[in-house]
Amino acid sequence: MIVMKFGGTSVESAAAMERIAGIVGSYAHRKPLVVVSAMGKTTNRLLAAADKAAAGNVEDALRDAEELRAFHRKEGGAAVPAESLGTLNALLETHFGELEVTLEAIAKAGEVTAALWDEVCSYGERLSSSIVALAFPKFGVAARHLDARSVLVTDSRHGQALPLYSRTYQRFAEKAAPMVEESVVVMGGFIGATVDGVTTTLGRGGSDFSAAIAGAGLGAEEIQIWTDVDGMLTCDPRVLAGGHLVRHISFVEAAELAYFGAKVLHPATVLPAIEKNIPVRILNSRRPEVEGTLIVSEPVPCTNFVKSIACKKDITVVSIRSLRMLMAHGFLRRIFEVFDRYRTPVDMVSTSEVSVSLTIDQTRFLSDIEAELSKIAEVTVLPNQAIICLVGDALRETSGVAERIFSAIKDVNIRMISQGASLMNVSLVVDGADLVRAVDALHREFFTVLDPEVF
Ligand code: ADP
Ligand code: ASP
Ligand code: MG
Repeated sequence: MIVMKFGGTSVESAAAMERIAGIVGSYAHRKPLVVVSAMGKTTNRLLAAADKAAAGNVEDALRDAEELRAFHRKEGGAAVPAESLGTLNALLETHFGELEVTLEAIAKAGEVTAALWDEVCSYGERLSSSIVALAFPKFGVAARHLDARSVLVTDSRHGQALPLYSRTYQRFAEKAAPMVEESVVVMGGFIGATVDGVTTTLGRGGSDFSAAIAGAGLGAEEIQIWTDVDGMLTCDPRVLAGGHLVRHISFVEAAELAYFGAKVLHPATVLPAIEKNIPVRILNSRRPEVEGTLIVSEPVPCTNFVKSIACKKDITVVSIRSLRMLMAHGFLRRIFEVFDRYRTPVDMVSTSEVSVSLTIDQTRFLSDIEAELSKIAEVTVLPNQAIICLVGDALRETSGVAERIFSAIKDVNIRMISQGASLMNVSLVVDGADLVRAVDALHREFFTVLDPEVF
């Protein structure tokens, strides 16, 4: 058994569905469970509709839903065989009927609660997975649909739910595994349900995580993440073109890169895979012949110290300074308690005796956090910063890397630097306006000569 996950662009149209049917068909002998994301940008559009409803623009919200219905009817209609058109129409009728009711409920409540947020987003994957399952037979691939909510059991942290692993694995073994023995199975990523059946989601980009959970639950031989790039590249292609394909990378390096912005993989994806030691492969659904990136449990020997450079834009640096707190214990605890209370993750931290600087990328509660911290210290907030993170497991044994970094970007102001606790990353904070220039210089420094075994 293998798990094959296809992201939003890989299922964005009837043509894309035909392409992936070809790919899945060529793996039929390995008994695939297929996990799909919502079609194209559907999740963003559903959320925009929910926000409009919450702001009282219910007509605009319903118009957005109508456009999404037309999009799914057009692409779905072109993808499914003639005999399934009736089923497709019934599916669109019930799903969009329910979505409209939900949007009206949001308008009435005047806010999108976390539970309603999950309910609204879930239609993306519910629709895409049902449509793909209907479409596959037209291209010669017999397939059945599996509602992810019947197997992926989560806690009730709406918007960022975590799987209840033993129940979930049991359901995959009992329900999904026998189905996969019979035909290809198609399931939506990103969504799950609590033990009481309330719909939840695993956080943005969470379909990769669903695929890994499914893989672990089935004891799959391999988890394939099919996307719109050739694999893990040496830099983020949205920041700098010309990156090289990293053919082999360890789980730990991949997790570090994902955490620091390499969106090609959701950061939680590798956890279930590590636990069950299942290799993960990143592949391009538009160029299936490319070998992609293989992520494995063992460190991969490489003469390049750095394997890839990840970036996170729109980072805010919060600096907290207190002379009163000089030498006082408990200062850091009090600071972190504030971020914790507002559920705002902190990525990087650097301290001196009287001050602490840290970075956050979620600013939803920033003004509350600032107000609370101001009671105990002087606070400054610096928006529009970026984190650059160089990752490679050889970094831990290599001296002189910091020197190479500093000389490569000597004309860029580095606001924070940290050698990650894992010892395999060096992270820097620079002004957002310097990001491209800095990544370009670092990429030239570390990737001009390439180890042919890895790149
Ligand atoms: P999917 O919809 O298939 O899940 P995503 O958009 O979530 O696709 O992830 C793929 C994207 O990740 C690429 O198009 C690319 O822009 C981005 N990305 C960021 N960093 C990297 C990297 N180091 N290597 C490859 N892609 C990256
Ligand atoms: N559709 C979800 C999102 O856009 C999950 C995913 O694509 O992985 O975040
Ligand atoms: Mg993704």
